[in-house]
Amino acid sequence: MTLSVSRRDFLRLGGGITAGTALAGLAGTGADLGPVTVRAQESRIKDVKPFRSVCPYCAVGCGLLVYTEKGADGKNKIIDIEGDYESPINRGTLCPKGAATFQLHVNPNRVTKVLHRKPGATEWEVMGLEDAMNRVVQLTKETRDRTFVEKNEAGIPVNNSLSIFSLGGATMDNEWNHIQQKLMRGLGVVAIENQARI
Ligand code: SF4
Repeated sequence: MTLSVSRRDFLRLGGGITAGTALAGLAGTGADLGPVTVRAQESRIKDVKPFRSVCPYCAVGCGLLVYTEKGADGKNKIIDIEGDYESPINRGTLCPKGAATFQLHVNPNRVTKVLHRKPGATEWEVMGLEDAMNRVVQLTKETRDRTFVEKNEAGIPVNNSLSIFSLGGATMDNEWNHIQQKLMRGLGVVAIENQARI
């Protein structure tokens, strides 16, 4: 007979085995005391192929293994994320933030649409991604053209726009940062910062 038990049940069963001597008194009461084969529940990530990724939180750049499987709707769903033991950076370990990456993705409170609050408005409105990108482009261009300085007060060419700064997040890799700083410097932006990482 094969019995599937959860980890919690297994621990409870362990306690029950400790009390086995006391249960010997059950013999003769009709209770089935025959041997039972017990095995732990299989890991939910057993046989699931992981994808390699990088923790999105900080510049350390710890490696992640992202496990996915097809849902009933045919789409891939993340079922677990853990540290990548082959990463030379973290060797499978994750700090508390990185260990919560699964909850970051699989979370009913996660904001998955662009939200926009118009100047003076009290409510957020959903905005299409294309519209949001166009608005960023429009405002960047307007601000740059309005504040661009060709020469300083001493007549020395500076060609800068001090009204814009660029702050990069931790998920920006070297290549993205390279392109970003080229774009920003082309606009005359001087203040450029990022969490440079792998
Ligand atoms: S797991 Fe922690 S230390 Fe590693 S990249 Fe993520 S936030 Fe940084």
